[in-house]
Amino acid sequence: MAELKRLSESRDLTRIERIGAHSHIRGLGLDASLEARDASEGMVGQLPARRAAGLILQLIRQGKIAGRAVLLAGQPGTGKTALAMGIAKSLGAETPFASIAASELFSLDLSKTEALTQAFRRAIGVRIKEEAEIIEGEVVEISVDRPVAAAAGVPSGAAPAGKTGRLTLKTTDMETVYELGGKMIEALGKEKVQSGDVVALDKASGKVTKLGRSIGRSRDYDAVGAHTKFVKCPEGELQKRKEVVHCVTLHEIDVINSRTQGFLALFTGDTGEIRAEVREQIDTKVAEWREEGKAEIVPGVLFIDEVHMLDIECFSFLNRALENDMAPILVIATNRGITTIRGTNYRSPHGIPSDFLDRLLIITTQPYTEEEIRKILDIRCEEEDVEMSADAKVLLTKIGTETSLRYAIHLITSAALACQKRKGKVVEMEDISRVYSLFLDLKRSTQYLMEYQSQYMFSEVQGEADGDD
Ligand code: ATP
Repeated sequence: MAELKRLSESRDLTRIERIGAHSHIRGLGLDASLEARDASEGMVGQLPARRAAGLILQLIRQGKIAGRAVLLAGQPGTGKTALAMGIAKSLGAETPFASIAASELFSLDLSKTEALTQAFRRAIGVRIKEEAEIIEGEVVEISVDRPVAAAAGVPSGAAPAGKTGRLTLKTTDMETVYELGGKMIEALGKEKVQSGDVVALDKASGKVTKLGRSIGRSRDYDAVGAHTKFVKCPEGELQKRKEVVHCVTLHEIDVINSRTQGFLALFTGDTGEIRAEVREQIDTKVAEWREEGKAEIVPGVLFIDEVHMLDIECFSFLNRALENDMAPILVIATNRGITTIRGTNYRSPHGIPSDFLDRLLIITTQPYTEEEIRKILDIRCEEEDVEMSADAKVLLTKIGTETSLRYAIHLITSAALACQKRKGKVVEMEDISRVYSLFLDLKRSTQYLMEYQSQYMFSEVQGEADGDD
């Protein structure tokens, strides 16, 4: 019973985790001409910023322009991270999107530049094209060593022959003999292939797929009879080349090829430092593949939140990294105004050095109107499966305008819990008031500290200092 309860608790937790702060964002909410719809794909208002993000999205999709950097600047809670999420969601699975908070660079085991390099390479995709030769034709003869054939379940009609085996296929213009490896023999057995069947043979993977039966040995495979699928193989279509495309990131290739880290590190994230020589070899190989037309680079997006937390070394690293022709589009966000550049005594806008600022396209976000806050809260209620009365929504919107959007969003979850506690189904004003009085917002918390600061630890330092004066 206890086990069961624990299981259900952990399930609930997973569900809570899945409704993340931005899980309601499904795109940028733009129409075909990149105009922002008032409220769409979970996005509300912030029209000019969304339009600008749409243009950036187009740049990324075209994939030709590397090394652009975009700064999302605006007050806390004005949707900078939401915009980055919107871009990520609109890109689709094939374009890589990597995201880090600048503060993470200072808490990892890795050096800052290694962590940044890994983040960059997570945002660069490689589309590798492989040609698979698929040959379709009628099976004239299969000859497999009898014990091998029996073990693989190849029908007894197949004559015994050498150690491995041979498959004679007749296509429209020729009869060709293929040497059979273990995989092909297995596939023949699984598909129960016999002479007279029409099969597709993938030479690279050894996969054999039965397509149906042909009629005798005639060149023209006419369809007759109902109980078996007879296949007509039209002239010229029997030999096909198919293209298989794999999409990976440069970072994935690095990890797989790094001897010190097994590829399992991809799942644990514990990749450690990757040696420069490994990366150089991989870059050379990828360059070769590009020359031969086997691979294409897909520059993705690297999103760095709280960018004011980067120091001067990181900024100079970024400056250089963006010069690379494979560089992704860099999207950075900050809510700081004029502040000190970390690692220096200089102050500058957003704590970003002026040479780096100079290469940025800057998108600003604006504070929300009451109506926009109401719409965002509405979307969040729906996302969290919370039913709320109209009065309660009005009150929550009021709280959102007086305090902050984020605080109001937090109250949705806690008010729903308060409602559950009193066995209610719909969140009412009383639930909102209750959680509003239980949890302080920033303004009230500051006020409280001002009133009671003498009772907190370390406030005496201030007092002594005052006394010294
Ligand atoms: P900070 O500077 O503090 O990091 P931010 O500008 O990144 O803040 P977000 O975290 O994006 O702000 O926004 C706060 C919350 O409001 C998030 O849950 C976000 O999804 C939601 N939100 C913000 N703007 C919008 C919007 N335009 N449409 C829908 N939801 C939004």
